[in-house]
Amino acid sequence: MPNSRSVTPGAAPAAIPFFRSPFCNDPEVTGRITRACADVLRSGVYVLGPQVRAFEASMSALLGAREVVAVNSGSDALCLALAALGVGTLGGGSADDEVVLPAYTFVACAEAVLAAGARPVFVDCDASGFLPSLEAHQAARGVRTRAVLAVGLFGDASALPALAAYCREQGLWLVEDIAQCLGASCTAPDGTARLAGTWGDAAAMSFYPTKTLGAVGDAGAMAFADARHARQARLLRNHGHEANEHLCLGRNSRMDELQAALLQIALETFPLALARRRQIASRYLAAWAALPRLTLPQDHEGHAWNYFVVTLESGGQRDALADALAREGVATRIYYSAPLHHHRALAPLHDGRALPRSEHLAQCSLALPLYPALNDGEIDRIIDVLPGALDQAMWAAATIAGSAPLR
Ligand SMILES: *Cc1c(COP(=O)(O)O)cnc(C)c1O
Repeated sequence: MPNSRSVTPGAAPAAIPFFRSPFCNDPEVTGRITRACADVLRSGVYVLGPQVRAFEASMSALLGAREVVAVNSGSDALCLALAALGVGTLGGGSADDEVVLPAYTFVACAEAVLAAGARPVFVDCDASGFLPSLEAHQAARGVRTRAVLAVGLFGDASALPALAAYCREQGLWLVEDIAQCLGASCTAPDGTARLAGTWGDAAAMSFYPTKTLGAVGDAGAMAFADARHARQARLLRNHGHEANEHLCLGRNSRMDELQAALLQIALETFPLALARRRQIASRYLAAWAALPRLTLPQDHEGHAWNYFVVTLESGGQRDALADALAREGVATRIYYSAPLHHHRALAPLHDGRALPRSEHLAQCSLALPLYPALNDGEIDRIIDVLPGALDQAMWAAATIAGSAPLR
């Protein structure tokens, strides 16, 4: 037999999607979640019941006993965390309260500041990475600054220790957006490692399916250092309701029982899922270290590797690489195609300063598939096809730019 594998000669390998949920391809897991759903359906309790309370307790145990309040999205978690701290009009603060946040992040971060009734102030990324430097935060601080929104972009929580010390010294609230870095850890100046979500006054997380801990729909949560803030957040997520009274105005941001039950199952394999993400990232970093014109993401101890984002030298190169990988059946995504201060709805709020690094990254960065459900064969294929796709992309980009590169 010339070939013992049942591969049709010449058949294209199956396409590799940008993301696949661990819930949909493991029969063992599918069986468990089907049973968990049936249990919830039979219980007749569908919103803010025992599953949500159990999930909050599990998350609290994970996050150093911080009090956890489950909500229905990461976007609401950000907004209600600010409100629970009293930042912005929703939480009883001032309409002039300013929150400093990165320009290169998901739009929900700015929306949350505005929904809380406060003002966003955008800062640029550091020249060498995806996160703003401490100096950028210091330069953006004004007399009305009340809080820093620290985003652990792509899974990198490494900025948290310095920001926590800075906020403490300056009397600012630190709100951690750990939507992409839940499970990441970083090291305090005294040498102890702590998880993202335990450095600030409040943390907001998202369990959108692609995040490091994914639900099968929308869900989110907050974690607080001070139980009084957690109590306020509990009121805000449910119309200010407590003991048949509405103590304040809030909204409906309740988590449902089905998401909580499935998240409990996802939590059991969360350490394994994180280890798998780190393993895939290490393989990519080692395999592509010597490729020209491709900047790889910085590795950090404790990185959660939610997304693996590479940077090219120009927007043309980035788009050509995405096209070349698509021809090889490898899906990619752009996070984020515009910095926040360039969004039509947000530009009028910005003071006009250029934020060149964020603008550059929005044009030149590309996310490659990295998720626990990638199998070894798929990882090998992504590693193998990237150098050739990069080569093609350089030619394509140079041709569009009007000159062929020297070989
Ligand atoms: C996903 C995400 C959010 C919003 O979470 P949702 O659950 O989608 O509302 C906020 N911030 C960042 C950095 C995110 O990646």
